[in-house]
Amino acid sequence: MDAEKKAGEGETTFAQRLAAVRERIDAACARAGRSVDEVEIVAVTKTHGPEVVRDAWEGGLRIMGENRVQEAAAKIPQSVSGPEWHLIGHLQKNKIRHALPLFSFFHSIDTPDLLAQMERIAEEADASPHILLEVNVSGESSKFGIRPDALPRMVEQALSARRLTLEGFMTMAPFSPNPEDARPHFARLRELRDKMERDFGASFPRLSMGMSGDFEVAVEEGATWVRLGTVLFGDREKWRPQAPSENVDDVVYTLE
Ligand SMILES: *Cc1c(COP(=O)(O)O)cnc(C)c1O
Repeated sequence: MDAEKKAGEGETTFAQRLAAVRERIDAACARAGRSVDEVEIVAVTKTHGPEVVRDAWEGGLRIMGENRVQEAAAKIPQSVSGPEWHLIGHLQKNKIRHALPLFSFFHSIDTPDLLAQMERIAEEADASPHILLEVNVSGESSKFGIRPDALPRMVEQALSARRLTLEGFMTMAPFSPNPEDARPHFARLRELRDKMERDFGASFPRLSMGMSGDFEVAVEEGATWVRLGTVLFGDREKWRPQAPSENVDDVVYTLE
């Protein structure tokens, strides 16, 4: 996992994988007539240790994504300083207070109650988180995410939450080995975003969509953030903080 390390036969270094990903993003931008500046990589470091954060940082990546609050709480202090940390996974209400100081962006706000609690706790903690609303575009693909018909009310609520800044929307396409299957989901998220911008006279510039298996399609359909783990860092590991801490028993990660 060391960018400096020589790759063995048939292996690739992080730097090589990143270069390949950048080329693929550039090509997808070219196909869609988009500027490469519009697309940024969220390096998904979950299940990996601080050394991959350093690789990513040294490779020029500025945003790291984690999906568990406790894992991030253990990892961030051990990692290079500088990255902007995004929570890309589901946020439980009882973790909001813990999560606010760790992350500047929350990609997966998906219920009115979570939104209301975030506003309340952000006020108490004097925090100003930026958020995306997670949309379950197909209405069935996952247990998380807002159904499209419930989106306008959530946008309205988010816009009236003074502590929170709604920057856009996020979705996860249902798993499929064929990236083309994800295209209608990504296109639909973009259309919903455009509609929300028109209906509310607001700007929602961020679209967080696309993972290792489908990021080129997502870029073609308008993604501004692609959340990439496996394609950059290889298979998931099972990182545990090295120094035993009081909380170590809480820090048990499952492979997903
Ligand atoms: C793990 C994860 C990713 C990255 O998945 P890869 O397929 O490894 O790129 C993206 N988004 C979310 C919400 C995740 O939990």
